[in-house]
Amino acid sequence: MQKIAVIDIDNTLWDFASVLYEELIKINPNVPNPLHWHKWDFWMDYIDTKTFYEIICKIHRRQDTFEAYPDAKFFLRELKESGYKIIIASHREEESRIPTINWLNKNKLSFDELHLSFDKTVLLCSCEIIVDDSPQILQKAAERRVIATGLEFPWNKSNGFKLFKNLSQILAYLSQIRFR
Ligand SMILES: [Mg+2]
Repeated sequence: MQKIAVIDIDNTLWDFASVLYEELIKINPNVPNPLHWHKWDFWMDYIDTKTFYEIICKIHRRQDTFEAYPDAKFFLRELKESGYKIIIASHREEESRIPTINWLNKNKLSFDELHLSFDKTVLLCSCEIIVDDSPQILQKAAERRVIATGLEFPWNKSNGFKLFKNLSQILAYLSQIRFR
């Protein structure tokens, strides 16, 4: 059976936090910048839940207007060439599927499947690798002995996860432990 790698989108393949920050300060100028987002739900102190999720949906619906991280294309291509089936998995509504596919294509990002839902843990039982910035996802993956790694941010560091500064470093780590 083909090996599967599950790859997140926001804050894994592109700089979602900066765009989210720009939108959040329009609603509440006291929202701190992403360098100070030390917990996953930092926003709860500044904005109501409904408004927060509306902002996120609005960003996802114009996904195709943003750029990917510079090494995202190479990262996914190398994973693919190492024999992995790539499932791009994002916590977002189905309505954002077309702009998300357009964004993947525009940025020449290799993928086999696009999983959009509000529970990507359903993918953990079948994958070998997951790359994500969410501490909850990384924790659940580690409990299932899935190789869990991602980019390092204030909201996920110091939790014992294998985290890196960029996708090229993640690739080097995966190559060391898996590919050859
Ligand atoms: Mg993410």
